[in-house]
Amino acid sequence: MDSDTMMQALVFETGERLRLCSRPLPALRHPDDVLVRVAASGICGTDRSIVLGDFPARSGVVLGHEAAGGVVATGPAVGSLAPGGRVVINPTYHCGSCRCCRRGMAAHCASKDGREIGVDRDGTLAEYVVVPAPFLHPLPPGVSYRRAALVEPLACVLNNLTAAALRWTDRCLVLGAGPIGTLCALVLAFRGHRVTVVERDAVRVELAQHVLPAPTQVVPAREGDLWPAAGGWEAGPDVVVDTTGVLLADALEVVATGGTVVAMGERETATATIPVRSLVTRGVRLVGAGPYPPHLFQTALDLARDLPLDSLVTHTLPLHRYAEAFAALHVPLADTGPAPSSYAAMKVLLLPGDQAREESRCAG
Ligand SMILES: [Zn+2]
Ligand SMILES: [Zn+2]
Repeated sequence: MDSDTMMQALVFETGERLRLCSRPLPALRHPDDVLVRVAASGICGTDRSIVLGDFPARSGVVLGHEAAGGVVATGPAVGSLAPGGRVVINPTYHCGSCRCCRRGMAAHCASKDGREIGVDRDGTLAEYVVVPAPFLHPLPPGVSYRRAALVEPLACVLNNLTAAALRWTDRCLVLGAGPIGTLCALVLAFRGHRVTVVERDAVRVELAQHVLPAPTQVVPAREGDLWPAAGGWEAGPDVVVDTTGVLLADALEVVATGGTVVAMGERETATATIPVRSLVTRGVRLVGAGPYPPHLFQTALDLARDLPLDSLVTHTLPLHRYAEAFAALHVPLADTGPAPSSYAAMKVLLLPGDQAREESRCAG
């Protein structure tokens, strides 16, 4: 294999299979394309769902969309970035000219087909990826690649919490203590809100407790009994964020009068029975916000200087140990040996190539 023209990449193939492949280095096809050497790439719930067959993706695509790395080469129209620069990738591409884009809803761009990184366009769980320059943000000196890999999920969280339109004294309940739920709680606590997180998985309760300092509480969920588990508040929570995607009806039941429920977790087949009268008479707001507009990606990057995002990272592994990485996320792959019985990780990062060493030099 010629190491100058070939790279290692984690490729999804229909039939729920994942393979480490040798692929040609991606080419710069457009004048504003940039070749990025990936330093750190997170494994997202979406990657997990793709491998489990719960989220559609193009067979043969390189997975991954939460990543940061170094600029290697730039197309002739790129003026703002140069080889050697450190960047983080905004994987939510938009065209700028469809009706949604023109109305300020770029996250819901109608021209996404063939442009979704790690879904139908080659992604970041590889040594190299090509990204158009407008979707690369320079990394400030104090933000490590490891921390930068969490900027994309943070941007999703910011968009959903923005949609919640929080009041200063709102008490918040977050359902689920995966990386998204834990990031929600981290941001809410940073803004001074009282937060309780409820989680079913015992390992994740413990991991989230490490990340989220008091007075934020992380408590185990009991079946059909969400609110007493969170305890201590006379009325219900003012804002409930459901990051699980399956607890919407419970969220609407426990939320305080005049409160807001944010539906955040995405499950392809999830449905909910909603108590319409209670929604109307109690003045409850139900919102869904989805992915972030471009300016919130920059806000997330600005916040990354102050928020200890990397405290969510429990595992960093080289790309070739991807099976261990997915096993820690409770995804059995054929070549992992015995199926894992539960989660062992919060956020897992894969470090393609040998850039772990480079990272420790850059981050100082
Ligand atoms: Zn993601
Ligand atoms: Zn568009």
